[in-house]
Amino acid sequence: MVYIMLGAPGAGKGTVGKQLANAINANYIASGDVFRNIVNEETELAKEIKECINSGKLVPDELAIKTFIDRILPKDLNTDLILDGYPRTEGQAKHLDSLLESKGVKVNWAINIDVPSELIIDRIVNRRICPNCNSIYNLKYGKRPKKEGICDNCGSNLIQRTDDNEKTIKDRLHTYEINTKPLINYYEKQSKLKNINADENTSIDELVKKAIQYTI
Ligand code: AMP
Repeated sequence: MVYIMLGAPGAGKGTVGKQLANAINANYIASGDVFRNIVNEETELAKEIKECINSGKLVPDELAIKTFIDRILPKDLNTDLILDGYPRTEGQAKHLDSLLESKGVKVNWAINIDVPSELIIDRIVNRRICPNCNSIYNLKYGKRPKKEGICDNCGSNLIQRTDDNEKTIKDRLHTYEINTKPLINYYEKQSKLKNINADENTSIDELVKKAIQYTI
């Protein structure tokens, strides 16, 4: 089974996707984590990707699709897979459909987390991540680190993503509206869309519970 996590930046795709993966024993892969790792490699490719990330733009489709094939899609598709952040454009989604079909699998559900836009910016500026194990925390909403600035999971120092500042967030939200939001319609047309509505009172546990129902 392949599940796609959809939603605006800061909607909680990563947090929910990881917990969902733990609950159903699936592989969880976030394309953003993969691209951030590439940025650390100090190559020409790293420079190009860094520019895209820091300006709130998407990595161009050709490069994103190549990275998906080379570094994101696991070789073993017998285990359930949760994809967070991929596909991000209709071009990627169409390519993914045909690639999976050639391997005898398909996207089962696209789980869309729908969060009011006024919540998003405050959530993102308060987000902290672990650069070592990619755990996600929030200083104001949901999971705070037990010890300030330190990852509960591996003890590394938490950081703020370079693109989690107000200016870049606005650009990322614009990119989302133009390029990624149309995927809601794309999967709806295929009868594969599952919507989860969330507001400031919805806990992560509630979101995860709903997401689990969609995988049964
Ligand atoms: P994320 O961690 O999902 O917010 O992704 C961080 C950044 O990585 C995005 O703003 C893009 O620049 C890049 N990125 C992640 N996934 C994709 C994708 N599927 N296609 C193009 N760019 C992507």
